[in-house]
Amino acid sequence: MPKKDLFAHPSWIEVDLVQFKKNIKIIQAHVKPSLLCLPVKANAYGHGLCPMGLAAEEAGVDYLAVAHLQEAIDLRKAGIQIPILVLGAIHEDQIEDLINFELEFTISSIYKANLVAEKCKKKGSKPKIHLEIDTGMQRTGVKPSSGRELFSHVKQLNCFTIIGIYSHFAKADEPNDPFTLKQIEEFRKLLEDPIFSETKLLCHIANSGGVTFFKESYLDMVRPCLLALGYVPENAPKTFQQIKPCFSVKSKVSYFKVVEAGCGISYNHTYITKKQTRIVTIPIGYGDGYRRALSNRGSVLIRGIKFPVCGTICMDQFMVDIGEQEIHVGDEVVLIGKQGDQELPASEIAALCDTNIYEVLCFFNNRIPRIYLTESSTTNPKEARLQKKTAK
Ligand SMILES: *Cc1c(COP(=O)(O)O)cnc(C)c1O
Repeated sequence: MPKKDLFAHPSWIEVDLVQFKKNIKIIQAHVKPSLLCLPVKANAYGHGLCPMGLAAEEAGVDYLAVAHLQEAIDLRKAGIQIPILVLGAIHEDQIEDLINFELEFTISSIYKANLVAEKCKKKGSKPKIHLEIDTGMQRTGVKPSSGRELFSHVKQLNCFTIIGIYSHFAKADEPNDPFTLKQIEEFRKLLEDPIFSETKLLCHIANSGGVTFFKESYLDMVRPCLLALGYVPENAPKTFQQIKPCFSVKSKVSYFKVVEAGCGISYNHTYITKKQTRIVTIPIGYGDGYRRALSNRGSVLIRGIKFPVCGTICMDQFMVDIGEQEIHVGDEVVLIGKQGDQELPASEIAALCDTNIYEVLCFFNNRIPRIYLTESSTTNPKEARLQKKTAK
């Protein structure tokens, strides 16, 4: 993966791997003896796939999970050795790579099991698989009532090593959610069937919501991602208080000007200055993942002060009205994260964009370089930049 020149883009994402590893340790201690599987799909929710995978492996995570084969291959090529589970439905043409890269994958129907079995036979290999049961997403996986049939069918094919069985929550974001309790009960009931309990299977269902609110869902392994990245919902257990976000988006003021009253700012002049004011330009836009929905709604931190975004966000830059304040070209701008005693949390951006934290994070693409703060790197971001600690 070619390293990006950190100075070739005026904005950057800072990922605090020290905090990330702390988060992992807290979760591990809390769910013990259950194993921890960290989903790192979608570029680890914008944090960067391979650096997060490697940091998770270093922190002692037992498993990584991804949505697609390509993500798993990237992780293996980066040197990840721990088990990787491909969650998404696979294609029979992927079997070759799934086996070559020693990946575990999901079988969620008899139809797919048959297709894939043929390929495995030809390859003379018995890859490790997990069966997927749908307890309420209606996405992928067989109904609990067909779980027994799927298991015995796949077993009789004799082409796979069945090592796990899992399901996924649809709405575990609230404590005591009755539907989630129903999902847990259905899954646990299925697992009591001797056909499953007599085989040593890795059983897993809990995502971040499950880990946060449903202890009875931990089973043999848990799969939280958003929580490990530091986003803890309100009324979470006290033990999670030290879990903090590790993701910041930063830039530097690229232009300063004084604008007269009655001036339209940016495309379509959706913002008109009421009086003479100072406008600064920030060199990041929706082409990087800073959402256009933040036009005239978002805010940024400069010199520890919160200022409003004015006018529409452009593809590569946007403007901020700083009123009478003294701000200079080159001053650091925080778009997500902390500056001084102020904070702009991702949750606030999500609310303004009428979406969730997941989407806000995933929107930041690989056009912006990412800097990884480690135990050895300084917390001074400018010096950290100089260390050029970056990766894809
Ligand atoms: C994405 C995903 C997770 C992690 O979800 P979080 O809400 O971030 O914890 C777990 N399991 C599956 C199957 C997923 O697709």
